[in-house]
Amino acid sequence: MSQVMSPHEVVALRAFSDNYIWTVRDASCAAVVDPGDAQPVLDYLRAERLELAAILNTHHHADHVGGNAALLARYRVPVYGPHDERIREVTHPLRDGERMKLPHFGIEFDVLEIPGHTRTHIAFFGGGMLFCGDTLFAAGCGRLFEGTPAQMHASLSKLMRLPDTTAVYCGHEYTLSNIRFAKAADPDNRALRELEARAQRQREQDLPTLPSNIAQEKATNPFVRCSETAVVATASRYAGKALQDPVAVLGAIREWKNQF
Ligand code: FE
Ligand code: ZN
Repeated sequence: MSQVMSPHEVVALRAFSDNYIWTVRDASCAAVVDPGDAQPVLDYLRAERLELAAILNTHHHADHVGGNAALLARYRVPVYGPHDERIREVTHPLRDGERMKLPHFGIEFDVLEIPGHTRTHIAFFGGGMLFCGDTLFAAGCGRLFEGTPAQMHASLSKLMRLPDTTAVYCGHEYTLSNIRFAKAADPDNRALRELEARAQRQREQDLPTLPSNIAQEKATNPFVRCSETAVVATASRYAGKALQDPVAVLGAIREWKNQF
């Protein structure tokens, strides 16, 4: 880290067993996405001698917002998140279509409402990056705790309209277990096998498999491939009837994965 630093870079801080606290940083400042735990952030800021510039929250779950209060006790920074009274610390509630400028970095993020995992889940898209919390995972999607298959389908479709090269920063390291299921739902998908080989190598070296990108998800993620013949076929087999539309397919494979 002693070389000349690019304007900013994104670092994965680990929390709990498989959460990532994505951290945008430059030589002097950092902004964190979904600090479920404050300690890894405080340790990193101290070790790297960085100031905290902002907190971004995608949704209200404790493993994404649990560190907000402890960080705010140390740093007075804005907190960007959804309109949801369950996240008390949000100072700048955001709606779909709004744009925010990340303090210090000046990166402009478009806010996308992407309900499904929770009803108020949002994503931040800007600077070629997407922070999508627990809605879209590499080769998977979040559980439908507060949403319907139709909502999740609409949310994932919205994300798939972003540029193919967009770097996708998901909230958890779930890639290998997602691939294990994806191979059952989309058995002859070659891109999936290639992704599996790469992800296995990365995990053996204890490296994150993320970020993904939109093109990779279109090629490998069964939850965004609910109109593909192969996925429709396996979903129909699981459901015991011919499924007609992608929302029904998504609903079926989401249920299937819950007990896979
Ligand atoms: Fe989570
Ligand atoms: Zn969650």
